[in-house]
Amino acid sequence: MRQIFLLILLFIVGQWLVKALRRHDAQTAQRNGAGANGAAGAAGTKDPNGGARGPNASQAQPQLAEPMIRCAECGVHAPKSDSVVVAGQAFCSAAHAQRHGAHPTGRDAR
Ligand SMILES: [Zn+2]
Repeated sequence: MRQIFLLILLFIVGQWLVKALRRHDAQTAQRNGAGANGAAGAAGTKDPNGGARGPNASQAQPQLAEPMIRCAECGVHAPKSDSVVVAGQAFCSAAHAQRHGAHPTGRDAR
């Protein structure tokens, strides 16, 4: 009989711990100003071990979305690292930058 009581007590304590962890997660999400992303993350990590994802994520390189640029010549979106910027305009390749410079649009001429 005493064991059952102990089990119930453990269950209650576990529930309280999960609740406290969730509250802590929500607070940290608010502090980070993650916005909708943080709320989704808090909902996704139901297990108490969810907190372990923090240091793990910082260790692994975060999948930063590379800024995309729009080619001024063909309109294709290319990653910024692959782009060529000429005179403040971004192009998907050097060939397009040259082509754009070879025949400029009339609106730039004053
Ligand atoms: Zn292009």
